[in-house]
Amino acid sequence: MKIGIIICDRYRNCAGGKCFKAIKNREGAFSIYSKNEPLDVVGYTTCGGCPGGNVEYVPEEMMKNGVEVIHFATGTIVGYPPCPYLNDFKNLIREKYGLKVIIGTHPIPQKYYELHSKIGSWESSESLVWEDFIQPTIADEETRIAYN
Ligand code: SF4
Repeated sequence: MKIGIIICDRYRNCAGGKCFKAIKNREGAFSIYSKNEPLDVVGYTTCGGCPGGNVEYVPEEMMKNGVEVIHFATGTIVGYPPCPYLNDFKNLIREKYGLKVIIGTHPIPQKYYELHSKIGSWESSESLVWEDFIQPTIADEETRIAYN
């Protein structure tokens, strides 16, 4: 499977440590892929900064390298505040490029899980369906702690 990763520009200097660990271990959103199936990252970039202008164009470049699925990094859902444009990004990529989009990469770190649960970030934020968005990366507590 060839995947592309788009990260939140607020974390533009991130080296991708947690994402690549999760790819290797098939954890978080990558748990849907079999360990026997090679997972190639064919593109890795940022959204370009709010409101995410890069998202409109980078899938095209990733498609030249055969991308099949685009993941938005977990940082887009655990940042403060969580990205308010994820639904738009998902719809745009699906409609314009016909690609599958998954929200999330590595498991949500426990410290973010606890804080966002406490302040209610994922309960009602405009039209976003947070329950669906955090589902691929919610993992179990032990795994979340391992990503703290
Ligand atoms: S909050 Fe959303 S649009 Fe803003 S930098 Fe992060 S991913 Fe990009």
